[in-house]
Amino acid sequence: MKVAVIGGGPAGCTAAYKLKKYGHDVILFESQDHVGGRTSQVQRDGFNLGSGALFLMGGIYPRTNAILKELDHYKDLVPWDAKTHVVDWDRQRYTVDFDQVLSFLKLPVFSIADKLRISLGVVGQLLSKGPKSCFDGAELAKFDKGENLEQWSLRVLGEKGHNYITVPYMGFLYGVPMDWLSTPLYQAIIQQFYKLALMVPPNGMGQICDWLIEGSSGLDLRLSCPAESVRPSGNGYEVSAGGQAHHVDAVILASEPGVSAALLEEVAQPQSTRKLRECLYSEYAHVQVAYARNPWPNFPVSVALPANDLRNWGACVLQSRRHPNAVPPGGEAVGVYFYTPPLAHMSDDDIKREAVMAVTEVFGAAPDPTFVHLFRYKRGLSIAGPGHYGTLNSLHAEMPKGIYLAGDYFAHAGVEAAVLSGELAANRLSGRT
Ligand SMILES: Cc1cc2nc3c(=O)[nH]c(=O)nc-3n(C[C@H](O)[C@H](O)[C@H](O)COP(=O)(O)OP(=O)(O)OC[C@H]3O[C@@H](n4cnc5c(N)ncnc54)[C@H](O)[C@@H]3O)c2cc1C
Repeated sequence: MKVAVIGGGPAGCTAAYKLKKYGHDVILFESQDHVGGRTSQVQRDGFNLGSGALFLMGGIYPRTNAILKELDHYKDLVPWDAKTHVVDWDRQRYTVDFDQVLSFLKLPVFSIADKLRISLGVVGQLLSKGPKSCFDGAELAKFDKGENLEQWSLRVLGEKGHNYITVPYMGFLYGVPMDWLSTPLYQAIIQQFYKLALMVPPNGMGQICDWLIEGSSGLDLRLSCPAESVRPSGNGYEVSAGGQAHHVDAVILASEPGVSAALLEEVAQPQSTRKLRECLYSEYAHVQVAYARNPWPNFPVSVALPANDLRNWGACVLQSRRHPNAVPPGGEAVGVYFYTPPLAHMSDDDIKREAVMAVTEVFGAAPDPTFVHLFRYKRGLSIAGPGHYGTLNSLHAEMPKGIYLAGDYFAHAGVEAAVLSGELAANRLSGRT
């Protein structure tokens, strides 16, 4: 079968890799001049900057791990201990391990009554049924009771537990207020806390798509070749891309949902394209503040997260600690990841200025940075509010024969969600469900 895959992020690269493995003839269209999507690396002055994704999360990323093992690259992943300071509103700091959620329980701000309440909440969650996978939207939909994360967290963990555990943790992952999020992901993370471990490919997260493409022998990869339309043609489809028409038997759309909606205008029902268009995304910005000479070589932790959401930034990360090739020898870069709501009122210059101030607040005085690089996305992260998983996952059954959808948005942003969706699309297409 000849298959077109549209989009060369982790979802599209996984779909192409699996389809090649199953023996299909595959052409992958990517609009950029490189694969990777929101996991891509950007090179500047010897720094290897991550444009988006920061880390894999160990045992809660089972499909990504399995495919990296197939590719013989799992062994290359570099563990990241992510020692973290939770920074309070009065600049008081508390040390935790980001990948050991229970370490947050040690924070001295909690009274015995707080600790008891949080422990009961955690034990209650451990004893209740939950989604097996943190990134399978169809599975998560079964546990979405319509409550938002803020309501659930305040009700179950109390105000202190909410401000000092839920907000710093999920604020780092999604950068949005807790009442924008649904509950099943966080509940699944609590239930699977013992599987968490942060890992990064040695050359950054962009290397995952490079590995997938290297492993897809015979793939016809078309870079700088945006798909422009998908039309029915005979028993299959005609995909126009880069000014050429390609006849294929089936198509996997692994672009962001608004783009897929536009491409499917002549193929899918209006109710389906509407669901894709209405998929909620956060605006997102992060700044890489780079120093040719590391001003804080011995800083005791590599991440700072604000307790409560009073600051505009959601995380500051020392990149040299995250993966070894992020910075040139002797250098350092700090990634400052912003919360979404304040961005509506911030210019690019405001964001950069505030990022440099955050860096000195968190890590201490430093000379002027070598450069300050802003990544700003109108549509940064797919956000799953209550109802999201059910609405989006009903789309699979609505697609016409030969059309399949992939992308992290079937769950919520995350490489595992993207990889799983690409694998599922390739399996459905090949009758391997
Ligand atoms: C700042 C930030 C931090 C993140 N941190 C993490 C993290 O630490 N861990 C984690 O697991 N995830 C993280 N993520 C999320 C992760 O990056 C995404 O979940 C993942 O990249 C989604 O993969 P995807 O293939 O669905 O989409 P994308 O990565 O967006 O890929 C879509 C691809 O489609 C291409 N495309 C679009 N239109 C067309 C067209 N018409 N024709 C051809 N190609 C097209 C795009 O150019 C792009 O390459 C982060 C994201 C951001 C923005």
